Amino acid sequence: MPFVARQEPFACEHCGKQVMPLPRGSYRNHCPHCLWSKHVDEAGPGDRASLCKGLMEPQAIDQESSKGWVIIHRCIVCRKESRNKAAPDDDMDAISKASSIH
Ligand SMILES: [Zn+2]
Ligand SMILES: [Zn+2]
Repeated sequence: MPFVARQEPFACEHCGKQVMPLPRGSYRNHCPHCLWSKHVDEAGPGDRASLCKGLMEPQAIDQESSKGWVIIHRCIVCRKESRNKAAPDDDMDAISKASSIH
């Protein structure tokens, strides 16, 4: 499966803040400010094969021994859930707010 990196800055469609790319080698798939993501991937991270393009709301936070913090997103359009590793510069306040949802 081809890996398509999205390394240019973009404006978050949920909070409107500018999102800068992570350093080389890391794939950012959610906003570090509000943790919302976008349903662009279908089968795996970075494939951008989804036709949905719905916004994905952070539902819960999990801590996995192998990956560290994992954000569970759910698409507000098609309800698809996905698990995404938290980025090093994610807003920890937003993470703790999201983890208190459940
Ligand atoms: Zn945002
Ligand atoms: Zn969707």
